[in-house]
Order: sequence, then structure tokens, then C-alpha cells
Amino acid sequence: MKSIRVFLVVVILAVITLFSFVAALKGYQSSMEQADHLFDEQLLDTAKLIASVYTEGSASNDSHDSSIAFQVWQPDGLLAASYNAPSTAIAPLVHGFDYINFGGYRWRTVAHFDTVNQYWVVAAERTDLRYTLAENVVLESISPVLFGLPLVGLLIWFIVGQGLKPLRRLADELGNKQADDLSALSYGSSSQELQRIVLSSNKLLERLERSLLRERQFASDAAHELRTPISVLKVQLHNISKELPETNQNVLKLAATTERLGHIVEQILDLYRSSPDQYNASLEAINLTGLVREILAQEYSQFDAKNQTLEFQGNDCFIQGDRFALTTLLLNLLSNANKYTPAGGQVNVSTRESGDHVILTVEDSGSGIPEQQREAVFERFYRVGGDRHQSGEPGCGLGLAIVKHIVESHNAAISVAHSRFKTGTAFQVNFPAVQLSQTSTQQDKKKVGK
Ligand code: ADP
Repeated sequence: MKSIRVFLVVVILAVITLFSFVAALKGYQSSMEQADHLFDEQLLDTAKLIASVYTEGSASNDSHDSSIAFQVWQPDGLLAASYNAPSTAIAPLVHGFDYINFGGYRWRTVAHFDTVNQYWVVAAERTDLRYTLAENVVLESISPVLFGLPLVGLLIWFIVGQGLKPLRRLADELGNKQADDLSALSYGSSSQELQRIVLSSNKLLERLERSLLRERQFASDAAHELRTPISVLKVQLHNISKELPETNQNVLKLAATTERLGHIVEQILDLYRSSPDQYNASLEAINLTGLVREILAQEYSQFDAKNQTLEFQGNDCFIQGDRFALTTLLLNLLSNANKYTPAGGQVNVSTRESGDHVILTVEDSGSGIPEQQREAVFERFYRVGGDRHQSGEPGCGLGLAIVKHIVESHNAAISVAHSRFKTGTAFQVNFPAVQLSQTSTQQDKKKVGK
């Protein structure tokens, strides 16, 4: 995956480096030209100086300056020369500058005619030495750029990082959204580019939410419409079964299927009613322990029918809750524990306070839920093993989705773990506790019928 930050830093650094080198090259060229001009003038002055100080027969270059060579020519021949000058003419005796090779070096030459003494002075200077200065100037001007490049890179890295911060914040906001959270992105970015992304994303979320609502509304309407014919079907089946022998397998199967159909329709309606956008929770202080006791008493018969041991433990614990929704939540968890625990098994229910939370636990000694499927079971229509559930229990995979909706609307959290039994599942719902004052506790205790 390409990183925008790395890309920008590399491109900006490459551009800066390229421009620095082009600028340095230009600087080098113009420095060389200027140096050429200056050194030429200096060479001509040297030639003139040699001409003016020259006294016949005294010309010898004692300075041992190997960068300069000269010759003094009279019309009848060489009059004098520096020790490093060749025996032949360094350059043609014609006014002006030239380039010549001798002594293993390249030389810049100038020929000057002294009109007073009537002789030619030819002065030469080694080109390699004369350019050293110009090269040093250019190198000194580009070396800060070269050595500063890593620092510039770091600075660009930091600045680009700062520039990309709003993008990261937006990505975080999107990443932290729950799968069913279609609310508009709140991030009011200051950069215009991101404003456009946020705006388009919000429009998309809005469209998505509308279509999801339509879909849910349709499912709920359809389920609602199915209620009446299913009730009629049940009555008709009841009437037919009276006329047929009690053991008629077809009628029994039909009755079971109709029952299941009715259950699915009710679950779909529950799912719709408990979804956060529909559910208008009228939360009140509820003694969860009292409510659990009531429901356990009411549902005891189904555990008894499977010869299961049902145990409850808990002191009064108060939460902000909706009685109807909490009843649905408990019924679903208990029904699952009952369904997925074999006959003779054990189901334990408990409520307890832990810090500022109230924890409801429903655990059983049943088949358990494989660890990798413990999140998926809360999705709609998800069943471990699909339609062919190993327990052979009928179900439509909506119960835990309803439970999840209710948990969310109570600002609670639900988790699944292995139960304390050898096998089995433990569902744990973590509600925020309500700290009631002494008097209100008494009132609420009465309210929940304790
Ligand atoms: P249903 O029970 O109608 O299939 P649920 O949404 O209530 O749908 O449960 C989803 C799936 O989670 C079930 O099909 C079952 O595989 C698994 N499950 C739920 N509760 C338990 C439990 N107590 N023990 C084992 N498996 C369970």
C-alpha cells in the first residue's frame, strides 16, 4: 500500500534536490565565466608587469611559481624566459588570449607587445590552478544544500504529517463507527478537500439509512400482516386435530411448523421494535434481581420439563431499564439456555453489583459456542452450524440480535464466554448501575413489587 506521506516527502525532496543542482550548475558556469574574465585581466597585467620590469638579460623566474610561465621575444629571437617555459614560442606572437598545452598541462596564454622596448611578452597560466578558486566557491555554496537535505527531509516529513492529520482523524472517526451506526460524520474539517469527502460520505450514509429503514419497515409490515393468517391457521389446525386421531403425524408436524412460523414472525416484530431507531425506551429505575426472579418463576416449567436444574443467586441490583425490553432480553437468554442444554443439564442465573456496574449472568452446561463464532451469533439469522443446528432445536437466529439491540439501548455491553461447567456458554450483560438514595431505594423497591 502506498503511503501519501512517503510519496509527498520523496517527491518534494526530489524536486528540491533537482532545483538545487540546476541552480548550482548555473552558478558554477557563471562563476567560471567571471573567474575566466578576472584571471585573463590579471594575466595581461602580469604580462605588462614583466614587460615594464624587464631589464635585459635579467629575466629568470626565480619565484618558482609553477603556475605562471613567460617568454620575452625580440624580433631576432628569444630574449628571456621563465624556467618552466618551453624553448619554442609558447604562443603565436599575436595580440590576444589563447589556450596551449605544454609541460603536461593546459595553459591560458596572452601575448603582449611592449611598444616602448619593442618586444613581445608571452605570459601563461595553468588553467587547473586558476579554476580551483572558482570551484571552491561553488562547492561551498552547494554544500549546505547537500548536507541540509536530510534535515529538510525530516522537516517535510513532519509538515506533511501535520497536513495529513485531518485525514487521519476522519479515518479514525469512520473506523470507530459501529456497523449499524449510520449517523452523519460530525467532523467539521477545516480543509476544503475533506469537507467534500465528509459531505459526500454523509449523503451516502443518509441514503443508506433511508434504504435500511425502508427494508426494516417492510420486514416489520410483512411480519405484522402475517400474524392474522398464522393465528387463523393455528385455530383451523386445532379444529382439524380434534377430528383426527391425536397421533396423526402430519397434523403434529403441521402444528409444530405453524408454531415455529408464528415464533419467527414474533421475533421479527421484536427485532424491529427493539431496534434503536424505533425503540423509545422509557427507562426507569428497575430492580433487575426482582425482575429476573419473576421471569424465572414464570419460565420454570420449561426447565422442569427437560429435567434441568435451574439456580439463581443475587441481591437487589438497580439499573435504569425498560421493563418490557428487559423481559424480552431475559426470555431470549433463558430460552436459549433451555434449548441448547441437554436434558438433565444445569442452568445458573445470577445478578451482582461490581463497582458502578450490575452484571447479569446466564450460564449453562450445554453445547457451548465455538470461540470464533461468539461475535457472529449476535448477527441476524445467524445460527451455529446454519439451519442444521447440531442440537436439532428449531430457531431462526434472531433472538440474540434482539438481545443485542436491547443491550445497546440500555448503554450496556454483552459478552459470551465459556461457562464454569465442563461445557456450555456464559452470557454476561454489563449494565450501568443506578445509585439510589436511601428513600428512593425504598420507593423503587415497592415499585418493583419487592
Ligand atoms: P436461535 O436460537 O433462534 O437459533 P439466537 O439468535 O437466539 O437464535 O441464537 C443464535 C445462535 O447462537 C443459535 O442458533 C445457537 O447456535 C447459538 N446459541 C445461542 N445461545 C446459546 C447457548 N446458550 N448455548 C449454545 N449455543 C447458543
